[in-house]
Amino acid sequence: MRVGARLRTPKTQPNRYPDYVTCPHCGEPEVEVWGDQPNATCHQCGQTFNYTPPADCASE
Ligand SMILES: [Zn+2]
Repeated sequence: MRVGARLRTPKTQPNRYPDYVTCPHCGEPEVEVWGDQPNATCHQCGQTFNYTPPADCASE
């Protein structure tokens, strides 16, 4: 369970939420990425890097 405030009225699709990854270029730890996007753009250095979403539903 996540700690912190829980938004009860999302303004966008409830099934889409951003993930946060570390930028490989500058080390920014909170680069917002979306699971349906193959690339992420760092808001710190402005560079783009490949993003592979975690396979949370992968078959075993
Ligand atoms: Zn960066």
